[in-house]
Amino acid sequence: MMQMISYKLTRNKNMKRIVLRVKNGLVKVSAPYHVAKSDIDKFVQINEEWIKEQLSKSTEKKAEFKEFDDDECLAKFEKLADKVFPLVADKLKTKPKLYVKNYKSRWGVCYFKRGYIILNKQLFDKEDRLIEQVILHEYVHFIVPNHSREFHKIMEKIMPDYKERRKELNK
Ligand SMILES: [Zn+2]
Repeated sequence: MMQMISYKLTRNKNMKRIVLRVKNGLVKVSAPYHVAKSDIDKFVQINEEWIKEQLSKSTEKKAEFKEFDDDECLAKFEKLADKVFPLVADKLKTKPKLYVKNYKSRWGVCYFKRGYIILNKQLFDKEDRLIEQVILHEYVHFIVPNHSREFHKIMEKIMPDYKERRKELNK
């Protein structure tokens, strides 16, 4: 007997054909009600090569991220944020809320209108001074939302070596 690929099946009455998707390491199949389970199995079997290729891609993607616990990240980043916030406290009324997430190509995001920042969990094993630079960067966006000259002037005034820290973080 052939080894079957396990998949999650959804029946959908509006569907005309079987649709196969691979997302986050899971194989999902949507099919119309009238298609027999054995035919769906066959369909999955036929597409085995493609599925395996997609599955290996998604594990590769996962490996780009180191596993860090949300709570541990939050605890560490909050402590650093408490250090950084006084530097901008005269301009920001309240300390922005802090969330964590994995990002591929950014260290942090600032939602200045909504009053929070999100830090990349991959910062967790970086030096404190480098994380502080990211936090300050996001905080300064509450003063200047873009990366204009004004933004960099403020950064430099508060953290004269911010460019070096940023370089170090990105190397
Ligand atoms: Zn920015």
